[in-house]
Amino acid sequence: MKITVKPSTTTINKTGAWRTNRPKFMHDKCTACAICSRLCPEGIIYQTDQTNAIGKKYFECDLTYCKGCGLCATECPFKAIEMELDEK
Ligand code: SF4
Ligand code: SF4
Repeated sequence: MKITVKPSTTTINKTGAWRTNRPKFMHDKCTACAICSRLCPEGIIYQTDQTNAIGKKYFECDLTYCKGCGLCATECPFKAIEMELDEK
């Protein structure tokens, strides 16, 4: 019986309904430091082409693959990410 998945399948395997929390990116607080994108274990945080109130191209994530671990929200030095209940 297989109990593990192959490496690098994050962008193939969508996150199921088991996720409890999800990140909310507060765009106007984002300084585009890119720390969140370097730390996300799933590699699904990216910089957008949209400019925020402080003139930075803010970051977002692809919720289709986000596992809701909360690492991005914990480590963002500017408190620009909050975890919220993932209402199904
Ligand atoms: S860590 Fe925070 S401030 Fe830095 S890019 Fe990510 S959301 Fe923006
Ligand atoms: S909650 Fe975890 S998986 Fe989702 S974007 Fe943040 S660091 Fe990545």
